Parts: sequence; C-alpha cells; structure tokens
Amino acid sequence: MCRYSDHPVKSHYVCAKDRRSKKSWGPTICEICREEMVNMGPDFKPPRKTYDNQWKKIGLLVAVGVNMQSCGCSGPGYISKTYAEAKRKYGEYGVTS
Ligand SMILES: [Zn+2]
Ligand SMILES: [Zn+2]
Repeated sequence: MCRYSDHPVKSHYVCAKDRRSKKSWGPTICEICREEMVNMGPDFKPPRKTYDNQWKKIGLLVAVGVNMQSCGCSGPGYISKTYAEAKRKYGEYGVTS
C-alpha cells in the first residue's frame, strides 16, 4: 500500500507567475490571476516569495511539466535545485533542442 493512499495528504498548488502556493485537496484557483494553479505534489516545498531564482526555477518546471507528485513511497526523484541547473537540464524556455 502506498503511503499517500494509506494516509492522504494535501498537495501543493502553485502559481509561479504570482509566486503563490496553497495546499489543497484538489484543483484550485490563484486568488490573484484567477487561473488554475498547478499541482506540484505533496512533496513540494514552496520557497519564500523573495527567492527569485527558486520561483524562476518553478516557472520553468511548470513550463516543461515537471512536478513532485509521487505515491509517497520513494519521493518524486531528483528535482533540479537551482534555476541554473534546471536551465541546463530543460533549456531556457523549456525547450531542450
Ligand atoms: Zn507507492
Ligand atoms: Zn496567479
């Protein structure tokens, strides 16, 4: 039995543009731009609003469709730690070629 099906947890939803994050049981709307927030998974740790590089990294992860969803057993795997690292991996605009 997977950890999160045994013990359901809320997921972190983000709006990278507005640097907002919210824990929710399901799809939710950004209170600033009213757009749907992106589900980054329960293992996501939102950075402080002022951490430019972290939010730029999140914006890039969102653009390329990377998130931290997992079943809770082994975690989401390795996620780039910095914007520079994510950029090396995914390209400046999420285009790898
Ligand atoms: Zn599992
Ligand atoms: Zn927003």
